Amino acid sequence: MPSPIPLHEIPEPNPKRLALRVTKAAERALRQGHPWLFDQAITEQSGPGQAGDLAVAFDHKRRFLAIGLLDPASPLRVKLLAHHRPEKIDGTWLRDKIREAIQLRAPLAEAGQTGYRLVFGEGDGLPGLVVDRYGATLVMKLYTAVWFPYLRHIVPALLESMPASERVILRLSRQVQAQPEATFGWREGDLLAGSPLLESDVPFVENGLLFAANVREGHKTGFFFDQRENRQRVRQLARGRTVLDLFSYTGGFALYAAAGGAAAVTAVDVSAPALAAAEENFRLNREAGNTAVSACPFTPVVADVFIFLAAQNESGAQFDMVIVDPPSFAKKGDEHGRALHAYAQLVQLALPLVAPNGLLVMASCSSRISEADFLDTIHDTAVEMDRPLWTQFVTGHAADHPLRPEFPEGRYLKCLFASPID
Ligand code: SAH
Repeated sequence: MPSPIPLHEIPEPNPKRLALRVTKAAERALRQGHPWLFDQAITEQSGPGQAGDLAVAFDHKRRFLAIGLLDPASPLRVKLLAHHRPEKIDGTWLRDKIREAIQLRAPLAEAGQTGYRLVFGEGDGLPGLVVDRYGATLVMKLYTAVWFPYLRHIVPALLESMPASERVILRLSRQVQAQPEATFGWREGDLLAGSPLLESDVPFVENGLLFAANVREGHKTGFFFDQRENRQRVRQLARGRTVLDLFSYTGGFALYAAAGGAAAVTAVDVSAPALAAAEENFRLNREAGNTAVSACPFTPVVADVFIFLAAQNESGAQFDMVIVDPPSFAKKGDEHGRALHAYAQLVQLALPLVAPNGLLVMASCSSRISEADFLDTIHDTAVEMDRPLWTQFVTGHAADHPLRPEFPEGRYLKCLFASPID
């Protein structure tokens, strides 16, 4: 396979900015600082452009609205970087933005965390660009090809702000992987800078617990940092309880429950490698002398959750805490109804397994499902089952996933902690 083009040889974006006219509705959205401009909202474009070319949107009186990066392959046609006033988008601008994002996470590093999100795309003003830290390894995930011409600035900026880092690994969304002409030979899992990874599993510390994540092949960048604070709540609520962690992946919730003194933990996932990683995460903490984890029996079960739950319902088994953290059921807009149906089905199957005075923890990571629809579905289903739920709290992302009021789409994670009223 040909090697990728070195970052400083990727052609620079066109120095001439494209001018765009947009619809009235888009004008309003851009005035409010929305980070996306859709293809259908563009009424005039001064010429063709390549991924990453700068584009300026003007209102109907030819006043400046926003500047961003053109993404000709995406219906989210322009990823906006600055609103209201023109700004010079160059290496200095990007370096400042990266430094700002990393500074926001300083309290996490100071608290001893070595795994967390450094850059959260739109939430940090860099649409479609995500960077997670796993110890000395930084993992950059691109959800759009617009960033390639800017990597010559972004990668050094990351290493400058995180000087103890040894490497930067590249991950690409499926959409970007499908545009090989726009990635300059760069592929999923490639090393962008630094020394190659000798082992695919990279160790990191989260709230004092040891984990290792496969950053080249795991989901997203290898781990779900967005659930950190919810895992911590599970840990605080787990003492003495039997815990069932459904859609466990590499056992994040399961390990926190064990560390919080759970009596026993069962984790279910359809992926055998994910559960093997969960076992490895338990082993790491037992070996490090974590007595609560050592004392907690851990049972990984490779199974389809729906089938597993049906069998458990037959046997009448119950758990004091049941955690349901499924994948996004609604990746496309038209899957909304199907996703709500799947959540209802999961409540029907999981609620009978919650012991009296027990706790149901249920999360949705789909931005297409609103918090209201998600909570209504859970509560309505519980009422239909004649086992209404009392809400303890509803939570969202961890603090390294900053939310912006002008970008409600970024608020994808919601998590309900509720107990049946028995
Ligand atoms: N709770 C995890 C993240 C879950 S990601 C954490 O905190 O890290 C979703 C997981 O669901 C993936 O590991 C995937 O393998 C699993 N999965 C998807 N569909 C499934 C199904 N029908 N049955 C069991 N596991 C499933």
